[in-house]
Amino acid sequence: MHISSQFDSGNIEVRDASDPQNIRLAIRPDAGGEFLQWFHFRLHGVRGVPLRLVIENAGACSYAEGWHGYRCAASYDRADWFRIPQTSYDGEQMVIEFTPESDTVWLAYFEPYSQERRLDFLGRCASSPMVRVECIGSSLQGRDLDVLHIGEGPRQIWVQARQHPGESMAEWFMEGFVTRLLDAADPVARELLKLASFHLIPNLNPDGSALGHLRSNAAGVNLNREWHAPTLERSPEVLHAQVAMKQTGADLFLDIHGDETLPYVFIDGGHMLPGYGETNLALQAAFLDNLKRASPDFQTEQGYADDRFTDEMMTLGSKWAAATFGCVSLTLEMPFKDNANAPDPRTGWNGARSQRLGEAFLLPVLAHLQALA
Ligand SMILES: [Zn+2]
Repeated sequence: MHISSQFDSGNIEVRDASDPQNIRLAIRPDAGGEFLQWFHFRLHGVRGVPLRLVIENAGACSYAEGWHGYRCAASYDRADWFRIPQTSYDGEQMVIEFTPESDTVWLAYFEPYSQERRLDFLGRCASSPMVRVECIGSSLQGRDLDVLHIGEGPRQIWVQARQHPGESMAEWFMEGFVTRLLDAADPVARELLKLASFHLIPNLNPDGSALGHLRSNAAGVNLNREWHAPTLERSPEVLHAQVAMKQTGADLFLDIHGDETLPYVFIDGGHMLPGYGETNLALQAAFLDNLKRASPDFQTEQGYADDRFTDEMMTLGSKWAAATFGCVSLTLEMPFKDNANAPDPRTGWNGARSQRLGEAFLLPVLAHLQALA
């Protein structure tokens, strides 16, 4: 048996793999050492071998409470991902037990979204006459920061994903959102492109994504705490995004994320911001209502408390956008686990469900634009 993680978004430290019934592993921290929780690795030579994998530092992870009720994601072909029912956490270690049906199996915190898939997707988008692909700058390690510009309407919509690289569901969401927006047979998409110009960043943290980080860029910086004062040295990804956004302004800003702990799809709005205003409060409430109708996966019962980010409010992307552009600004959170209101025992929350949610977002965005008109 062999375990490897030297590939795109790979992350695991092998402490001892000599006994299949006691495979001792640890999650490698992001650069800088502040965050850890993402893992992604491959096991070889395991067909029919009963395995018991122990993640020994699970209790030291950034959101350790999120391991309760969590089930590990696995795939034999890197296309179909399923959950391993025998995943348990005792407050210190996580134990994953199963017998693979294939020689090779991939395990991950969540269904990965690879750099290759992103490049293929950008290529498909670039071949459409409706799309302008712009590279707005480079990450710390020199990876491209791409923005897709679609539509020629007067309103400006910004959607960005994967500030937090371990939240791969965010990039699946973007693929669903953009793919529907480019469907020339879809009347909602056609109307949207008349009313607005869309500016879409599928991945704002390509370094962290490639490095197998949970939350930070190559310098160990949490990009979603940099929006008050980004710098080329620490957070060029945010700096470049801000420059691009200021060129157009924004009438709606969406920041796409995943949450380690809550098994629900929810939105953290801008309503706690001083100066958000009655108009934006009403528009935000309407957006949430319309999203509920467009996707029963979305709910408003469970979410963050309003004071969660009080001390660091203006360091967050969505709060910065609300304050800078005076627009409705929303942070979407999808679960790493499942939607407890509509669970899928085989897959949990996954890439396909994230894509469907991205598609569903077009309707509330259209209603928002119609309300602004
Ligand atoms: Zn996040």
